[in-house]
Amino acid sequence: MEHQSAIAYGNLYRRGYLGDRIPKDMNFDYIILHESGHEYFGNSVSASDLADMWIHESFTTYMEALYVECQMSYSASLRYLEYQRPYIRNEEPIIGVRGMNWYKRVKTSDQYYKGSWILHTLRSIVDNDERWKAYLKGLYDAFEMKIIISEDVLEFTQNYFKEIDLGPFFRQYLYRPEIPIVQYKMSETQDGVKLQYQLISQEPGLKIPVKVRVGDQTIKIIVENKPQSILLESEKSSDVQILKNLYLIDFVIQP
Ligand SMILES: [Zn+2]
Repeated sequence: MEHQSAIAYGNLYRRGYLGDRIPKDMNFDYIILHESGHEYFGNSVSASDLADMWIHESFTTYMEALYVECQMSYSASLRYLEYQRPYIRNEEPIIGVRGMNWYKRVKTSDQYYKGSWILHTLRSIVDNDERWKAYLKGLYDAFEMKIIISEDVLEFTQNYFKEIDLGPFFRQYLYRPEIPIVQYKMSETQDGVKLQYQLISQEPGLKIPVKVRVGDQTIKIIVENKPQSILLESEKSSDVQILKNLYLIDFVIQP
C-alpha cells in the first residue's frame, strides 16, 4: 500500500497481482505500478473524504491502462481495460456520502474499475488524444499537493472541455449506479444498412457520441434518449461494427 512513510508490499514480486489479474502476454508487477500511481493521485492530489475516494482510485487504476498504452500500444491498453471490466458491479454510486466513512461501508470496488472505465469513456467522448493527455496533466498540476473534493475535479473538467455539457455525463456515471444502455438494430435495405438506435439512460440529457465502423471507414453517431436511425453505405450488416470497447455502455440488440 502507498501510504507515505509506511509502505507495505505483499505481491511476492509476481506478475500482475499474485500471478494473475493482467492479460497473459503482459509482464509487470501490478502492485508496484498501482501504488506508485498513488504518489500522484492519492498522496499528492488527495481527497478530503472517503466519499471522494475515486479521485485516488479511478485515476490511478486508469493510469495502469495508460502505462500499458505507453509501454505497449493503445490496442494493448484496450485489452488491459477489458481485464478490469468484469469487476464492475454498478451497485453503488461512485461518489458517496461525506462524513460517514462511506468507502468502508460499501462493498463495491467501483471506485477502481468502473472509475477507470468512466475515464476511458470520457476520453472516447473527447475524441482527441492530445487534449485528453493535456487534460490529465493539467488536472494533476492544478491540484498537486492539495486536498480536494469531487466537485473540484468536475468543475476543472467541465471548464477544460467547455464545448461539451458534461453535467448529464457526471450525474449518470458518478452519482448513479446504473450505466446507460444503447438499444440498436440493423436491417439490410436496398439503399444500405439501416441502423436504428436509442439510448436508455436515467439522465434524460445524456448524449454519447458512439463510433461505428462501416467497411474501412469510421463514423460517429450521437446516441440520445429517443429513437434515431441512420442509413449506412454498406450492403451487408456484417460489415458494420459498433466500437463497443470504447465505452462503458451496455449495448443490447433491440427485440
Ligand atoms: Zn489504490
